[in-house]
Amino acid sequence: MYDALDTYKLLDKLDTPIFVLKVTDFEKQDFKLIYANEANIIACGVDLKKFIGVDLRTNFPGLYEVGLADKYFESVITQKTLEVGEVVYGDENVNRSAYTGKATPISEDTVMITYKDISALKEAEQKLLHQNRVLKEKNKSLEEFAYITSHDLQEPLNTISSFVEILLKTYDERMNDNCRQILGHIGSSTTRLKNMIISILEYSRLGNQKEKMNIDCNLLVQEIQEDFKTLLDSKEVKLHISNLPSVNGSASEMRMLFQNLISNAIKYQERGNIPEVSINVEDNQQGYWIFSVTDNGIGIAENDRQKIFKMFHRLHLQQEYQGVGIGLANCLKIVQNHNGKIWVESVLRQGSTFYFTIPY
Ligand code: ADP
Repeated sequence: MYDALDTYKLLDKLDTPIFVLKVTDFEKQDFKLIYANEANIIACGVDLKKFIGVDLRTNFPGLYEVGLADKYFESVITQKTLEVGEVVYGDENVNRSAYTGKATPISEDTVMITYKDISALKEAEQKLLHQNRVLKEKNKSLEEFAYITSHDLQEPLNTISSFVEILLKTYDERMNDNCRQILGHIGSSTTRLKNMIISILEYSRLGNQKEKMNIDCNLLVQEIQEDFKTLLDSKEVKLHISNLPSVNGSASEMRMLFQNLISNAIKYQERGNIPEVSINVEDNQQGYWIFSVTDNGIGIAENDRQKIFKMFHRLHLQQEYQGVGIGLANCLKIVQNHNGKIWVESVLRQGSTFYFTIPY
């Protein structure tokens, strides 16, 4: 059995700073300090034991100025444990710092205070907020830069395209095959560059539409199906669509997301293979829907599964599969804008499943 002395020794070993106050005058809300453990020395920079028996108002006036003494008194009067929110406190005896604490009544006229110094935590929080702001600003100016440059770059490309056309039309008879071929290459490279620039423009615009709305994904996929009718028919695609939920998001971006994943599922197939595409959804029971788009296509090697979400990262030549290499970068940005994640699981030559999460 512990006696009172052992209990005090025990409390002195604790990391949590504790002190106990006794009301000496209920009308004036005066207290005196009747107990303090050693942890106070580290927590507030003063050995409170030296102040045992002293009047609180005279020795620690700051506690009254910031309203902490009021809370201690309220706890005694109501006989309830009260959280003492974040407060910055300091006086001639106590280090100035940010503290949180708790006042717990232990009798009708005594209250126990536990607290901790949260200044390091606050500082880290401030730093993080600042870094977050800087990052957001940088991101915004980068997007503006991408938008402006890609917009302006289109102009000289248009000029090149039209001059190539004029050359081919006007001087066709005076040109040999080699010359025609070279101009043909210039024309197709210019078109490719133009497509890339348009893609960057589109990418930089993603996230601009701040307004979110309720989107019925069944309806959305049905519309995409209608838009893709010719492609679906010509490739004899077998499409299986589960019953999909409604989500809150940007309608045009969600459409682009499904559209990119479905068209890739149809495109990246062995020649002659009939594409089979399934769209499913699962509730992860933690506030997210997990959507998936599965195909029976060529699959993606493990090493490439992260890289394909980077801008202009392609695994094939244009002759094998045509594309710009920005579809999945768009998907990643869209999903992130909707506070979700995207990833792919795949077996080479058997197929891939792209998963993405969207909060309910
Ligand atoms: P693009 O299709 O224009 O090349 P994406 O960004 O949509 O651009 O895709 C990037 C790359 O990821 C593609 O070039 C392809 O190699 C690979 N990829 C995307 N979807 C699939 C898929 N369903 N199956 C196999 N490979 C895929």
